[in-house]
Amino acid sequence: APGLYIVAGPIGNLSDLSPRAAEILRQADVVAVEDTRVSAKLLRHAGSDRPMVPYHDHSDDRVRARLIERMASEVVALLSDAGTPLISDPGYKLVRDARGAGRAVTTIPGPCAAIAAVTLSGLPSDRFLFMGFLPPKTKARGDALAEVAGLRASLIFYESGPRCAASLADMAAALGDRPAALCREISKAYEETLTGSLSELSAACAAKEPRGEIVIVVGPPGEKPPADEDDVEAALAEALTRLSASQAASE
Ligand code: SAM
Repeated sequence: APGLYIVAGPIGNLSDLSPRAAEILRQADVVAVEDTRVSAKLLRHAGSDRPMVPYHDHSDDRVRARLIERMASEVVALLSDAGTPLISDPGYKLVRDARGAGRAVTTIPGPCAAIAAVTLSGLPSDRFLFMGFLPPKTKARGDALAEVAGLRASLIFYESGPRCAASLADMAAALGDRPAALCREISKAYEETLTGSLSELSAACAAKEPRGEIVIVVGPPGEKPPADEDDVEAALAEALTRLSASQAASE
């Protein structure tokens, strides 16, 4: 059926392309892609010989209008260089305008680095906020972090190796030294997840720059609340009880 198909591709492991995603890539009249060289490899893997057109949300409006027009009678697939389109990737305006024009829009869901990292992190997964890439400038980065510091949710960031140590240090300063996880090269040969406090992870990244593609997950505030006075007294009373019990046993 004609319309827009949002196709999730792999995030590193070609075998993660779903059979249904491959089928749509073979059937599409046109595949809208970020980078034709990157997507040519995936199309080859899927056994697709379909034509590609480069698409970005900042592309000329006429490029988008032409794709919307084609969706009326043709199958238009939207594919990113990696993972799920629209997630720190192009596509939002295409979906918005396709809906505005009354086109059929559907998705072939699949890999997404943000979701994969939440599942790997060991941090609370019931509430989380995807933050994408932090702004590169210190002031804007601090503002973005301050805005979410009070939120009772895990936070997910995309990051690059060279910027990891500085970003993690800024996070520790703005959010407090929370538990965190750094997931890199998910689904690839050198997949690795490091866990620790933000300051520990920052120090580790400063000592040795992590390579490859990276997602940082930060736990919500107050995961381990500092002991207050009542807790200390209760713990003391419990220890004294245990001590006198063991003394009684040894008498
Ligand atoms: N649309 C993609 C998705 O669904 O995850 C994300 C695209 S964004 C431009 C690319 C960023 O995603 C990378 O800089 C990295 O932070 C993260 N990423 C992509 N693949 C990854 C992988 N295999 N392991 C860890 N992070 C990855």
